[in-house]
Amino acid sequence: MIIINPIDYLIKKGFRKTSDPATYSSGKWGLRNYTVNGYNYDSYCGGYHRAWDFAKKDGAAIPSIADGGIVTAGTSEHSNFGKQAVVAYPKLDIQVIYGHLKRLDVKIGDVVNQGDTVGTQGATNYNNVFMASHLHIQFQKLGYIPDERTFVCTGIDVLNIDVNKKAAPAPTTNNDAMIIDVSHHQPSKSINYKELSKYVDHVIIRTMDADMEDREYKNHHKHFKAQGVPTAAYAFFRAQNDTHVKNES
Ligand SMILES: [Zn+2]
Repeated sequence: MIIINPIDYLIKKGFRKTSDPATYSSGKWGLRNYTVNGYNYDSYCGGYHRAWDFAKKDGAAIPSIADGGIVTAGTSEHSNFGKQAVVAYPKLDIQVIYGHLKRLDVKIGDVVNQGDTVGTQGATNYNNVFMASHLHIQFQKLGYIPDERTFVCTGIDVLNIDVNKKAAPAPTTNNDAMIIDVSHHQPSKSINYKELSKYVDHVIIRTMDADMEDREYKNHHKHFKAQGVPTAAYAFFRAQNDTHVKNES
């Protein structure tokens, strides 16, 4: 099966990578230390930029990377990513920060599907520093991160995440199964096995042993088997002394 990860998805939508954590000169996911005119854009995270940057053109619509996203934050209060949308994708077990947006098209609580516009490409940021218009997109494992700096600086790799992943099918249960429990208290002569077998899927037979007479266990088993109905047996254990225990064992 071909996996389309969020990075491939954005490229298919016409975005080009302008910063890729796999290509930093210090090594994959290492320090980026992007400094222009003495301003280090990654200083808040100690020189790290755990995200991808993309550009299409200023004002370009930014598509939700997958279905079923729930907008959990739509303001700048979390970070220096300016106008941002934080979208949770429970099916993918990730949350995504779409940052530096020019226009925010969603609000908290909105559900977005793949391709829906989250906002538009821009250059907004907390510090009001100059930056070229681009999309900062950062991925995190799904979950609340209480500390701002941790929130801003945590980013994970998503190259193995399939944006088209389907939810696991719901487990099926057979609520129509009919199981009955019979014992020596129901004499085989009293049971119409053929008729009863039309309605039951399984039979559990209670048996007794030792000095208690195993009156019908073998008969029940034989007759249900003849009708093609699976049987299981359990022993009703009733011992009054050591000899009984030994015999029943
Ligand atoms: Zn960035």
